[in-house]
Amino acid sequence: MARQFFVGGNFKMNPATQADKLALAKVLNEAELDPATEVVISPPALYLIPLKEAIRKDIKVAAQNCYLKDSGAFTGEISPAQLADAQIPYVILGHSERRTIFHETSEIVAQKTRAALDKGLSVILCIGETLKEREAEETAKVCQAQLKAAVDVLKEGDWSKIVIAYEPVWAIGTGKVATPQQAQQAHVDIRSYLSKVVSSSVADSIRIIYGGSVSAANCKELSTLPDVDGFLVGGASLKPEFVQIVNSKK
Ligand code: PEP
Repeated sequence: MARQFFVGGNFKMNPATQADKLALAKVLNEAELDPATEVVISPPALYLIPLKEAIRKDIKVAAQNCYLKDSGAFTGEISPAQLADAQIPYVILGHSERRTIFHETSEIVAQKTRAALDKGLSVILCIGETLKEREAEETAKVCQAQLKAAVDVLKEGDWSKIVIAYEPVWAIGTGKVATPQQAQQAHVDIRSYLSKVVSSSVADSIRIIYGGSVSAANCKELSTLPDVDGFLVGGASLKPEFVQIVNSKK
């Protein structure tokens, strides 16, 4: 089944100013982008609405996180209902920085995923192993455990609005990209797990993107892998080379 190539830019807590963000938008607005690729950029929450207004309409915006309730006494949080009301179509959930620094468990990430889907949002669901886990040959096991929490909540429900981002923690922000073999194998393992516990049609149709030190220099080769359906890009999404990454299939 043909899966639309997807490239997401995760700005994290960068850049420092609104002006920098608008400069990035200008680069993208003026670039020639592959119309076959879905492009989503994810600024800090404060900039979602101004960036949505400044960016060309064929690029979508994503929140970097949301909470699992619609409203209430949850200081500092943003709800899926609020994102939906602001017409923000995507949210990134379960990023390794959220899991590690903010102690989000796979169960919390799964509940957030359910809450976001219930409000009509699409979810970029991040999973991935640490270096220690890879060295212990536990990559598939760790990814499956992280996904299982979502499977337990979503069951055979609607997976069409989920993009899975396989992001090995050791590759994020380190300049150490997974080899094509490592990325392809991890994606195949994720697909076959989903086939087993959800359905073969979900496994075939779901997009599994790779994240971890993707750059203009390595994106072409990774984009040719049969089970790599795109990228989640951190550092390089803040630079003009993001355009080359978006166009890696061209
Ligand atoms: C990320 O934070 O999702 C990421 C992949 O970062 P980087 O591209 O900088 O490794």
